[in-house]
Amino acid sequence: MPSATNIPDFIRRATDDAGFDLAGIAPVRQYPELDYFPAWIASGHAGEMRYLETRGESGNLKRASLAEVAPWARSVIVCAINYNTAQSWSTADRRPSTGWISRYAWSAQDYHASVLRRLHAVEAKLKQESPDCETRCYVDTGPLVERVWAKYAGIGWQGKNTCLINQQIGSWIFLGVILTSIELQPDLPVPDRCGACTRCLDACPTNAFVAPYQLDATRCISYLTIEKRGDIPEDLRDGIGRHVFGCDICQEVCPWNRRAPVTAAPEFAPRPGLVNPALEWLAAMNEDEFRAALRGSPIKRARYNGLRRNVAIAMGNSGDSRFLPTLQKLAAGPDPAVASHARWAIDKLHQRG
Ligand code: SF4
Ligand code: SF4
Repeated sequence: MPSATNIPDFIRRATDDAGFDLAGIAPVRQYPELDYFPAWIASGHAGEMRYLETRGESGNLKRASLAEVAPWARSVIVCAINYNTAQSWSTADRRPSTGWISRYAWSAQDYHASVLRRLHAVEAKLKQESPDCETRCYVDTGPLVERVWAKYAGIGWQGKNTCLINQQIGSWIFLGVILTSIELQPDLPVPDRCGACTRCLDACPTNAFVAPYQLDATRCISYLTIEKRGDIPEDLRDGIGRHVFGCDICQEVCPWNRRAPVTAAPEFAPRPGLVNPALEWLAAMNEDEFRAALRGSPIKRARYNGLRRNVAIAMGNSGDSRFLPTLQKLAAGPDPAVASHARWAIDKLHQRG
């Protein structure tokens, strides 16, 4: 078994071998950013994302205190992998016939499985070295706010756009964490390098930032197009543009992404047709076709009728009256939210004349 000081080197080799681009270690502490989390939930800015509100036996939010939900954990190993590809931004496509999709959802595989497989490879090596240690791996679903732990593990800083940014590879990164009962030598937190920049705050089309570093998710296009069920508030629909799944604008404008390297992981390669899908293609799918076409894709999280609702908004915002017959069909369909958003889009295209 390696000594406490050479375990970090051993872990770094294991994370490299597993294909992670970055890795670091944060000691289990009650960081000040975690104390902000309950206030953010209480403000209602998390909207319908109830999974963020799960509570432990004491009634406290699980994500706000790791010491409470995993009292055995001493260190958090945070791993990061770059998912950037050479493909230009989805929003660079100005053709009115297509929709915009968030970069992380372009590939054919759900990143959760891909990151988890790598975490398990690291975990297996750790167990070989320290068979008695307790470990647990998470990708998005753990009782912790990954970005806070990533900061204290030296992976990057949380930018004013609330994304985790690494000085070398930018913010197109997936995070995964391994909780461990081993007390590991920690890394140093990364200082904030946003400086006086406000590009992300200025560029957000729905004014989702209540302040620098503070997001009202209920106004964010990512939340609205993926998590929100039913109606999207009318005053936010224009700002959605042709986004049908997620939004990357506050990352696209970030100077730290200007020279973001391309990932070495082949599974993040864009799937043809998913960077800028034809809106007519998405609108024409029946539920079986939706499941088959998006098998393994994170886009399924928006659900069939949620995606059609988003497509209706995108068609309304396209300015292209050739979508009117399709919108009439959507407006006559059985799902009330799809139908009402299609009527909104028809009115919008008519107003444009
Ligand atoms: S993802 Fe888009 S809508 Fe959400 S905060 Fe960033 S720019 Fe605004
Ligand atoms: S755009 Fe500017 S302010 Fe926003 S996260 Fe990037 S560096 Fe920070």
